Amino acid sequence: MSQDQENFRDTIGTIREDGKRAWVFPKKPSGRFYQYRKYVSYFLLAFLIAAPFVKINGNQFLMFNVLERRFNIFSLPFWPQDFYLFVILMIIGVVFVSLFTVAFGRIFCGWMCPQTIFLEMVFRRIEYWIDGDRGAQIRLDRQEWNAEKIRKRVTKWIVFFIISFLIANVFLAYLIGSDRLIQYVIDGPLHHVSTMISLLIFTAVFYFVFAWFREQVCIIACPYGRMQSVLLDNKSIVVAYDHKRGEGENGRKKFRKSEDREALGNGDCIDCFQCVNVCPTGIDIRNGTQLECVNCTACIDECDTIMEKVNLPKGLIRYASEDEITKKEKFKFSPRLKGYTSVLFILTGVLIGMLFLRNDLEANILRLPGQLYEHKEGNIISNVYTYKLINKTTKDVKDVNFKLISHKGIVKLVRQEDFTVPAQDLAEGTLFIEINNAAIKTDKEKIEVGVYSDGELIETTTTAFLAPRSYK
Ligand code: SF4
Ligand code: SF4
Repeated sequence: MSQDQENFRDTIGTIREDGKRAWVFPKKPSGRFYQYRKYVSYFLLAFLIAAPFVKINGNQFLMFNVLERRFNIFSLPFWPQDFYLFVILMIIGVVFVSLFTVAFGRIFCGWMCPQTIFLEMVFRRIEYWIDGDRGAQIRLDRQEWNAEKIRKRVTKWIVFFIISFLIANVFLAYLIGSDRLIQYVIDGPLHHVSTMISLLIFTAVFYFVFAWFREQVCIIACPYGRMQSVLLDNKSIVVAYDHKRGEGENGRKKFRKSEDREALGNGDCIDCFQCVNVCPTGIDIRNGTQLECVNCTACIDECDTIMEKVNLPKGLIRYASEDEITKKEKFKFSPRLKGYTSVLFILTGVLIGMLFLRNDLEANILRLPGQLYEHKEGNIISNVYTYKLINKTTKDVKDVNFKLISHKGIVKLVRQEDFTVPAQDLAEGTLFIEINNAAIKTDKEKIEVGVYSDGELIETTTTAFLAPRSYK
């Protein structure tokens, strides 16, 4: 492409030359891919809405309680102590998305991203229902404020606000847990003013994003879109315009009845601009792969409809790689793809292994800071500790006590014999460990302590035991 033809890369399709926002009024999509995307979006919307309300073994299916640092993923409870698993999960997520981007471009954006699903499949469809299709929307935007415009605008704003409020509620259920959200609703907002304020702030954010900011999220704010240029290569499959076929020898030309386009050397693109009119990010896909394209497939459907009307083969815009278009090369499993897949398999294996090795009860016994040791009658050395037990299961762990495993000695709980660690909760306290000096070999001995429930060993942990140097 010449410098002039590349000029579109210097600007963003939705920003005018004077720096103001160029509002996009996309034509209502229709066609094969749009229909498939509708089915996928129904499934994903149902999943997103239901996930915080579904429980397995009493655990919310998905929960991200950042404030209390409690997380449930697929009903498996995670605590801050499991943070390393989260990090691995995040790395797997990044590799997975990268792998997909290398192979299939931004397929995730068009088909699975919650931003696209809510915008294109919920808010935009309501807009078409209230304001009409592209032409009617442009007319409504340009017309003076009259009764019709006020009625349509107010109706739309109210419906958008209600949906934003519902999304904010679901979002809150992910954050604080659905049980608590339902309880707050039953109690009434006046009993939980701070939560209500948070809810209204979330509502305002969602309203702003879906009613006004819209495609700007994908173009300006989303880092994934920016990563595209690094990840894509000529073999990546993206929504692409077949410029070889579309431009022919003499370039794109308007359609004329009964003409022989092939003989005239005209390309198959009839320059009808329907692919541009339908694009929700306001770009012309015929300029090539662009940062703004979210691979929504609306232009594929639109161009296919046009091709059908003018009796030309479909697929002028289609899922294709640059090499497929220019060199007629088929999709290959490239070394880069093989590398990403191997890393993905290894990380998934590590994650599964760690999930299986993860204990249901996590025990930590630490020496009380600033305390040394006490010399007691009968040559006994005593150290004082704090303990913290985290029960990650949905059942109480009862009759818990400790026993020394590595040494002969006793563990004395302060103010209790044994105790219960409630389900998905923790128990903390203080204990003394007493060991006869004869059994101690160093001034900082590593000792192993067993955690017992109902007399059964359920976990072991290690800690340090201090003793005076004279005993070595
Ligand atoms: S819809 Fe197809 S034929 Fe029409 S301008 Fe776009 S690429 Fe060309
Ligand atoms: S260029 Fe096509 S696939 Fe990309 S965002 Fe626009 S309509 Fe969607």
